[in-house]
Amino acid sequence: MNTVENKIADEIHGCIVCAKLFNVLSVYTPDGKLLDCTVTSPGGHIVPDEHQPLVACDIHTEEEVKSAHKRWLSKTGKAFDAEQEDE
Ligand SMILES: [Zn+2]
Repeated sequence: MNTVENKIADEIHGCIVCAKLFNVLSVYTPDGKLLDCTVTSPGGHIVPDEHQPLVACDIHTEEEVKSAHKRWLSKTGKAFDAEQEDE
């Protein structure tokens, strides 16, 4: 059995609702997949996402966070798929 170590990264991410910055501790597998992440600054929490550590302040409602997440996903989806479409 291989003993492969996960990579721990200290990152800074902005709240997806209001862009306030939080420190985030992320754990990646050796092949770069996001395994786990935790907000280390007070007042914020992780927004579950398969691909990226995303954070939101505790003060936002679930609905605010959800719609911001949706907006965020459509924005990044566009950046990856349809670079030619510039609005
Ligand atoms: Zn916020």
